[in-house]
Amino acid sequence: MYKCNSRRLQELIEQFSRFGATDNGGVTRLSLSNEDILARNYFCECCEALGMNIQIDDMGNIYATLPGKKNVPPIVMGSHLDSVEKGGRFDGVLGVLTAIEAIRTIKENGIDIEIPLTIVNFTNEEGARFDPAMMSSGVITSKFAKEKMLQSTDKNGISFQEALQASGYQGKKEHRLTEALAYLELHIEQGPILEAQQCEIGVVEGVLGMVCYELTITGQSNHAGTTPMSMRKDPMIVASTIITELHEQLGNIDEQLVYTFGRMHVTPNIHTVIPNKVTFTIDSRHQKPEVMQQVEDILLALPEMAAGCSIQPVKLWGRETVYFDTTICHEVEQACQRFGYTAHRMFSGAGHDAQYMASIVPSAMIFVPSIQGKSHCEEEATTFEDCVKGADILLETVLTLQTKFSMGETYTLH
Ligand SMILES: [Zn+2]
Repeated sequence: MYKCNSRRLQELIEQFSRFGATDNGGVTRLSLSNEDILARNYFCECCEALGMNIQIDDMGNIYATLPGKKNVPPIVMGSHLDSVEKGGRFDGVLGVLTAIEAIRTIKENGIDIEIPLTIVNFTNEEGARFDPAMMSSGVITSKFAKEKMLQSTDKNGISFQEALQASGYQGKKEHRLTEALAYLELHIEQGPILEAQQCEIGVVEGVLGMVCYELTITGQSNHAGTTPMSMRKDPMIVASTIITELHEQLGNIDEQLVYTFGRMHVTPNIHTVIPNKVTFTIDSRHQKPEVMQQVEDILLALPEMAAGCSIQPVKLWGRETVYFDTTICHEVEQACQRFGYTAHRMFSGAGHDAQYMASIVPSAMIFVPSIQGKSHCEEEATTFEDCVKGADILLETVLTLQTKFSMGETYTLH
């Protein structure tokens, strides 16, 4: 077994955290911003120094490949270098940097590489500058139409296409990753479970299915002072009653179910006016489709009218649970056992590039603990000790896969 170098990985994390560093120890590295371009340049420099070949596709995804003795599709590691506004120093970037550390350890130990190893940086994973999230892994796996994505604009009206052209990172369509033997993404957990269970590694079995509904409650506006309570059609009161009732009903379905009333609009939103319309969203996530169906059944069984107001549920979007490759998950778990690291099988509640990659390549993810479960904020942190343990498992899994694939074993999508 080969152990990664924690000092070297820490230095690399610290170097990357300078690109877009914020005053409070986080980073703002929006996709294709100057800060992102600096991080991309440095990523390419690090990989070239390791003798890796750089290719860039038409979405600005960067692939750095260490050639193997066999001319076969690569084993791919990676994640994303972009961040949200005032995000942390670990989300995304850690998957790229632990991959660099894995390759550095391979080179340092003179390990023979049969199967090519590729590190990928996916463009605009966060969707913080250009909607949607996971844009470029989504395009190369045919989830999104490229032409539509190019038109996506940031808050200053700059399109993704313009930003991509200006960045110098617009490559060729034929460089897209279309074939790989496996994809492994290391990521911070972004939740509190590993820490609470005192586990060092999360073996991620998939990404939770979700549905998002918007409920519109329509009533009647009137004067807040002159309209008697008995003569009102107040959608705000109805909305609050529905939320309380849904909280009660959904809370009884399954303790793993999570649901969030995250966005609410009140019209006209004036303190002296009874609202005429309230809309709010409910985002709900669970591994099992039958549980998600129960959620939808409850939402669709809401009455059409209540207290003089109409109630209309509209499904905004949903996704099925994505299951990662069970054989690769098993290899990750085995690697943890060999290293003596405690492992916990879990699902990801957040979306990741791996969920799209899983549709074209046998994929899995490795989670490392997030201190207090915090992410997408400047306080986001993972101990360097945990980061290097993640790198150890990433490297060990890749080396195991490489041995198996060299012997002719392949994993098929299922
Ligand atoms: Zn991420």
